[in-house]
Amino acid sequence: MIDAYAKLARELDESQLRRDEPLAPYTTFRIGGPADLFYSTTSADDLALAVTAARRENVPYFVLGLGANILVGDKGFRGLVIRNHASHFTFYDDGRVWVESGAVMGELIPEAVERGWSGIEHYVGIPSTVGGAVWQNLHFLEPEPDRKQTMFIADVFSSCDLLTEEGERKTVGSDYMQFGYDTSILHSRRDIALAVTFQLMKGNTAAMHKVMQENLSWRGARHPWLQFHPSAGSIFQKIEGMGAGRLVDQCGLKGFRHGGAQISHIHANIMVNLGNATARDVRELITIAQDAVEKKFGVRLQTEIGFIGEFSSS
Ligand SMILES: Cc1cc2nc3c(=O)[nH]c(=O)nc-3n(C[C@H](O)[C@H](O)[C@H](O)COP(=O)(O)OP(=O)(O)OC[C@H]3O[C@@H](n4cnc5c(N)ncnc54)[C@H](O)[C@@H]3O)c2cc1C
Repeated sequence: MIDAYAKLARELDESQLRRDEPLAPYTTFRIGGPADLFYSTTSADDLALAVTAARRENVPYFVLGLGANILVGDKGFRGLVIRNHASHFTFYDDGRVWVESGAVMGELIPEAVERGWSGIEHYVGIPSTVGGAVWQNLHFLEPEPDRKQTMFIADVFSSCDLLTEEGERKTVGSDYMQFGYDTSILHSRRDIALAVTFQLMKGNTAAMHKVMQENLSWRGARHPWLQFHPSAGSIFQKIEGMGAGRLVDQCGLKGFRHGGAQISHIHANIMVNLGNATARDVRELITIAQDAVEKKFGVRLQTEIGFIGEFSSS
């Protein structure tokens, strides 16, 4: 691997490359050991170059957005982590916006709102890059009526510029993406989203600001605050008609602590890092919750987050 690393390093811009870089600060959980190689990309072309080089040298790689939907193992990642900062964008007169996949949704939203384009303001307050948003088909509850319906980023998706698993660069539409609840084609193919085009609609800026304030306030009242209680959002996949969090809650596990990890007092599907949690603490807490729910309700909860890198054996 050392030889492959050296070859790979020669193909990348040395000023953007680090070795043995701890990953915890690059995740919203604030957990995770070091990546052997860590490369920061600043453009879609550079992202494609880094992925292509890693594939050529047979070095395992991982494209990292804001790290908001993953748990990185305590032993870190053997290979190359590519932190995607590619964030150039262009708005067109017909409401389309082309945006590189490393753009942060929280920075793109105000740009769209300021120009009077509506469609992505609903996702305010959710930590995500554009690439992460299409990977998972970012979603949130519609305000009307009573937050019963779910809206998805797929609703405003127009096309995606990909680097395919086979190494080809091409633009694909919705059909190719196979969006579903918490999923897209990117879960089953090693395609990389380089840039995305969203189709937005003319909107009323004041109304959009209202939606944003309401959504932020709704989230703020129901979810632990990331800046005080690091997390990866929902841990378990939704169970139709039941709610994974409700099942964990009914096992009396709200506030249950294991090592430095805790099931949130205010949302039982969210685990928080109390400051010194390890990935092992979180994994064990996940098993505790799964076992308790299975014993009481006969249902095995499935995890929603990705597990990245090497975990210590428990
Ligand atoms: C406090 C909190 C609240 C949340 N609330 C919500 C919510 O309301 N709704 C919701 O849907 N989600 C929510 N999430 C989950 C999370 O925000 C989303 O899944 C988000 O889209 C993750 O984006 P990311 O950039 O952090 O991706 P990462 O976590 O960095 O990566 C996730 C996966 O996407 C892949 N990926 C990233 N970029 C690319 C790319 N360019 N090409 C191919 N693959 C890529 C990664 O390799 C990885 O497998 C929440 C998370 C937190 C921490």
